[in-house]
Amino acid sequence: MKNRFKVINVTPRGFCKGVYNAIELAKQTRLDFPFDKITILGELVHNKDVVSSLKSLKIDTIESKGKLRIELLDEINEGIIIFSAHGVSPLVQIKAHNKGLKTINASCEDVLKTQDLIKAYLNQAYDVFYIGQHGHPEAEASIDLDSSRIHLIQIGQDIPQFESKKIFVTNQTTMSILDIKNTIQSIQSIYPFAIVSDEICNATRLRQEAILKLPESVDAIIIIGDKSSNNTKMLAKISRNKSISTIIEVQNLRELDPKLLDHCHELAITAGASTPKFIIDEIVHFVNAYSMDSQVDKANYSINPFI
Ligand code: SF4
Repeated sequence: MKNRFKVINVTPRGFCKGVYNAIELAKQTRLDFPFDKITILGELVHNKDVVSSLKSLKIDTIESKGKLRIELLDEINEGIIIFSAHGVSPLVQIKAHNKGLKTINASCEDVLKTQDLIKAYLNQAYDVFYIGQHGHPEAEASIDLDSSRIHLIQIGQDIPQFESKKIFVTNQTTMSILDIKNTIQSIQSIYPFAIVSDEICNATRLRQEAILKLPESVDAIIIIGDKSSNNTKMLAKISRNKSISTIIEVQNLRELDPKLLDHCHELAITAGASTPKFIIDEIVHFVNAYSMDSQVDKANYSINPFI
């Protein structure tokens, strides 16, 4: 049977090392403390299927849209607390310690590296421009290092005017590579002396570059990931920058409307860094079958979840 459309599997896609390590650390904590109450402060990684898999190990997650981690901490009063892959601010760590909680830190090493850089420049009396997103846990963790001298720059926002001659510029690890390049150029046009360190992590960069390198003949792309995952949202943004005409964002196979595929000729499939492999596999297997036969049933492609 002739394929109705071509399927291109974009690589790399799916779990990065920081997400993988955070999940393994949470699982190991359950093994080490089988009878303790364990709570994750905010989602360990931004994916609801991962959160529910951890719940099956009796590892709870405290999350509330719009609430900062320091506020969420008011809801945890006993047991072990795990800090998420997005990093943790010193204020949160001190508050958890004062509450008598045992703490486990699942911060990604790339986030910790950015925080170490910021601390080094603060120690040399620099002001810091941090390009990131208001309310994102990674931005909260980094800006809380010294909120009087770290200034959040959001994409598209005017660059603040300062007298300071010592400015260090860095960023949240999961931003769009194109946005960061443009924003850094805007800052440098005002502050040519600024010291800049682009801290987009390799996982984010490689997943975005893979989309930019797709052939121009690709006319549709499926992006698999949680709606709260920043690196997933940035894959959609990069796809728009590349002018791919049909961009389909789904969290899992249940959300995929196959009719959206009916008019495409070349379909790419990618996934954010916090999307589990079984979710990607479900969609890839279904789409491959659908590319040959539009009568296939989604229900036959469901895989048992595990992490
Ligand atoms: S996306 Fe980057 S910063 Fe975030 S957990 Fe993965 S490797 Fe770390």
